Amino acid sequence: MDFLNPEAHRKDEVAIEIDLAAGVLERCDVCRTLFDRGHDERLPTADALALELFDRDDPRVAIFKGDRDDLLRRLRTARKPIPYSCLCENTG
Ligand SMILES: [Zn+2]
Repeated sequence: MDFLNPEAHRKDEVAIEIDLAAGVLERCDVCRTLFDRGHDERLPTADALALELFDRDDPRVAIFKGDRDDLLRRLRTARKPIPYSCLCENTG
């Protein structure tokens, strides 16, 4: 994530939100940490969800100004810093 570029950061947040909704990413119920178990098979679901949001002119994707490719790319790149499991799972 690029914290020096707030717009890019916001775009990654939208991508992560869609990845979560599609099941590509998961969130720990205990510590709220995001984790990534490599559910690549869910990426087509995330893509479909993203395109649906563009079709509906959903305010969540307004920041992309119609650039669908940018969002589809970020559905993948925004996952990179996300760990495989959360901390409480590692210690528990
Ligand atoms: Zn946890």
